[in-house]
Amino acid sequence: MSIIADNLKHIKEDLPENITLVAVTKTKPVKTILEAYNAGHKIFGENRIQEMADKYKDLPKDIEWHMIGHLQSNKVKYMAHFVHLIHGVDSFKTLEEIDKQAKKHERVINCLLQARIAEEETKFGLPFAEIEKIISSVELKKLENITITGLMGMSTFTDDVDQIKSEFERLNNFFQNLKEKTANEELQNVQLETLSMGMSGDYPIAIECGSTMVRIGSAIFGAR
Ligand SMILES: *Cc1c(COP(=O)(O)O)cnc(C)c1O
Repeated sequence: MSIIADNLKHIKEDLPENITLVAVTKTKPVKTILEAYNAGHKIFGENRIQEMADKYKDLPKDIEWHMIGHLQSNKVKYMAHFVHLIHGVDSFKTLEEIDKQAKKHERVINCLLQARIAEEETKFGLPFAEIEKIISSVELKKLENITITGLMGMSTFTDDVDQIKSEFERLNNFFQNLKEKTANEELQNVQLETLSMGMSGDYPIAIECGSTMVRIGSAIFGAR
């Protein structure tokens, strides 16, 4: 068995059944991704739109592609025909662009709003109040070709487990409250079910804190 297949097997054995594993393949070549695919994995994440579009062309079409990186609005068109879930939406303007491009392909694209939970200034994401504002806005109702299916967050890069835990817990609490609130409001394009949090270094903590989707790269494919 290849190292990649072996890594995947071990990670999957430890994941609770309801957790979706996104195997993060950024910078990795097509032949490496095929190793994971041939081991039965079909959900992959990339952080650059162009790189993902190139790999999409070269790989089997039953792969579910997730865009996990920061989005440049002008590049959304390159993935609108195939992307399965966009994790890193952090502005209303980007949602509008995704909606516009999805419409061209007569699709509805699922999106996660990225919440800012880390203390680092460098990390992207929306403050909770901004997320609430977008969700409850009148303008959102007009976007018929997107669905907001959840939230995504990245913790501070630190060895301090308590800090990581408190950041993930904060996001989960916010997510659960928002889910309850929106469930009663019959918003057409808001169906909160996914909480994307956890990477190679912190996914066991994220799962403990309510994650439903983990994005794991180096623990499967090795260092980049
Ligand atoms: C690269 C990346 C990951 C995976 O990181 P690893 O530490 O290799 O598991 C997860 N999420 C995002 C947004 C990333 O950019």
